[in-house]
Amino acid sequence: QATTAPVLQLVDVRKIFGDFAAVDGINVDIKEGEFVTIVGPSGSGKTTLLRMLAGMESPSQGYITLRGELINDVPADKRPTCLVFQSLALFPHKTVGENIEFPLKVRKMPAAERKARALELMRMVRLPESYYSKNVMRCSGGEKQRVALARAFAYDPDVLFFDEPLSALDYKLKKVLEKELKDLHRESGKTFVYITHSLEEAMVMSDRVGVMSRGRLVQIGTPEEIYTKPATRFVAEFFGEVNSFEVKRDGDGDWALGDGRAIIVAPVGEAIGDTATVIVRPETMRFVTGPSSADNLITGKIYNEYSLGSRMQYQVHSGERIYLVEAARTAVAGISAGDTVTIGWDASDAIVVGD
Ligand code: ATP
Repeated sequence: QATTAPVLQLVDVRKIFGDFAAVDGINVDIKEGEFVTIVGPSGSGKTTLLRMLAGMESPSQGYITLRGELINDVPADKRPTCLVFQSLALFPHKTVGENIEFPLKVRKMPAAERKARALELMRMVRLPESYYSKNVMRCSGGEKQRVALARAFAYDPDVLFFDEPLSALDYKLKKVLEKELKDLHRESGKTFVYITHSLEEAMVMSDRVGVMSRGRLVQIGTPEEIYTKPATRFVAEFFGEVNSFEVKRDGDGDWALGDGRAIIVAPVGEAIGDTATVIVRPETMRFVTGPSSADNLITGKIYNEYSLGSRMQYQVHSGERIYLVEAARTAVAGISAGDTVTIGWDASDAIVVGD
């Protein structure tokens, strides 16, 4: 359970390469025992940020503190932290046991004690005991990942950093390990800071998700907050396609679309004449037959349909606009391309975001 004391504090942290700010002023407190994931597209500065946290780079400006101590220039091996990454850096000709015991050997722990601890860590990462003497190169990708994780825990770090550790694994294994990592986080009580470009991965595992764009942290919050209250269209679109409308606030307090129609949204504070982007997720739009209490109703024609497995997505054309509607397959039986349909959504599902 996370307490309120920050273990890591970042104050206006920047990393400048030449005249380019790869990390451009990050402020965040990470609490003891938290699982924080930073997501962002390629080049947004995630790796650079993590390298500063792990001690492989120093910030150009700002402060990083660990339990209140300034660590800006403390090298990686002098920090009570450990980095787990995709290219695992395991010792290829050694056994699983030798790999896991490496940090313990460096600390001169006696052999018998080392082995007991290694076996304990193997249990924790769900590796069978028989793997202790197995050459690590004969392990599968997922097993190697578990070995790397057990070795990271052998350092007994205060904070574990993860740099896309699952990105090389196949989808099914990735899904299994995501949940196992979350379980491991719970069981160990350690602070985890994880970076990935996959929001899906971030959502499954994390207490809080930070979204990075161009060196800045655009938003940080619980998965629920990031999903239901995205600060910007960029954050909203990280979850996949959205319906978005550029709108202007009218005298009735609604948001005018510019084609004579308006979108009704839940009350927000903007003044008349203000412009904004309103997004509506495809899964909160629904097909309406008969009388409806939906705040917004639009009639259009289904141009195409896409199967997403258990869900279906429809492209609906209405005037100049294209709407995306997504629903459970079972809820849309009998609806198909070419049909004229009415789609509806509620004011509370129309989210006003910044530009
Ligand atoms: P990816 O998901 O592709 O790994 P990222 O979000 O981790 O991307 P970074 O690797 O942190 O992004 O890179 C951020 C930006 O900083 C990129 O434009 C990159 O080219 C630049 N950059 C990173 N390291 C250096 C360096 N040593 N010298 C110059 N520019 C760098």
